[in-house]
Amino acid sequence: MSRATCDARLPSITNSSNRYRMKDKPNIVVVGTGGTIAGRGTSAVDTSAYACSVLAIDEILSAIPEASSLANLSAEQLLQSGSENFNEQHLLMIGKRVSEVLKDDTVDGVILTHGTDTIEETAYFLHLTLKSVKPVVVVGSMRPPSAMSSDASLNLYDAIAVAIHPSSHGKGTLVVANEEIHSARDVTKTNSFKLEAFRSPYGALGYVTQGKPRYYRTPSRDHTVSTPWSIDDIEALPKVDVVYAYGALESELVRAIAADASGLVFAGTGNGNIAEHMVEPLREATRRGLHVVRASRTGSGVVIRNGAQPDDDYDWIVVDDQPPQKARILLMLAMLGNPDERRALQAAFYRF
Ligand code: ASP
Repeated sequence: MSRATCDARLPSITNSSNRYRMKDKPNIVVVGTGGTIAGRGTSAVDTSAYACSVLAIDEILSAIPEASSLANLSAEQLLQSGSENFNEQHLLMIGKRVSEVLKDDTVDGVILTHGTDTIEETAYFLHLTLKSVKPVVVVGSMRPPSAMSSDASLNLYDAIAVAIHPSSHGKGTLVVANEEIHSARDVTKTNSFKLEAFRSPYGALGYVTQGKPRYYRTPSRDHTVSTPWSIDDIEALPKVDVVYAYGALESELVRAIAADASGLVFAGTGNGNIAEHMVEPLREATRRGLHVVRASRTGSGVVIRNGAQPDDDYDWIVVDDQPPQKARILLMLAMLGNPDERRALQAAFYRF
């Protein structure tokens, strides 16, 4: 098999019967959406080349019988697709389903299995829009269950251990990988194939080991019940695009984006730098109503307002410390309440 195949399929929900019968252990619902954790290679040495999104969520769970001693698990298949395919409709579908499940008083927590490519975007979207203090843990794997030293079973087992634990309440959406618990706000995928792919710039919130989470930090920015956005009320998201900067970037691209998007996250070089020939096209687009957000393509650090560019003069916004792909999620949400108020949009980047 030459490369991973990740095709989008029609959503279906299965196996929700008998979900809430017992209360001897916490009741956890596992929602499957595909990804490598649902992948299969032709041989155990296929750690990076395999078919992704082929195993049903029931099959993935049946590989870890140990998990049933932690919780009463019920599974449903919401999607079966590589997460690189996920767009705003997928985000809304996932968010609304997780929200619905959380509203059931007999449910103690939700696990979302998800491809790792865009796990950080979906998790951040949930972190900002779910209105519940119950644990929501998003989990994937870097190697399919069929590969040598796959992280699939342990990651999922750890996710369940995190979801059932009282100390996970009120921490927002969590991403569990490689025995670490990350805040959805901070985590990003930083490697294309290694198990230790997930990093948070300020460190993980804690570890999970031997079936128990150990927290050492808490998220400091507002999330879930402290945000103004409820997934239940969101029917559509504004169009926001990302432009990746390089010296030969042509201004035509900005014009094309400005023609049908409401926001543009500019992944500038270094501290959100913008090449001289791009400044005027971006200013022109701003005057016509496009929200321009300066980010950095470096992968970490803060973009300083009025640093590399006079943002006050140009009416631009800066991301604070968010990478472009997560800034896009936040801008889409911030625009729901403040479509034209740039000061409010900027404030969102310092609050969430
Ligand atoms: N392409 C896969 C996905 O994001 C990769 C993975 O799950 O690790 O769905």
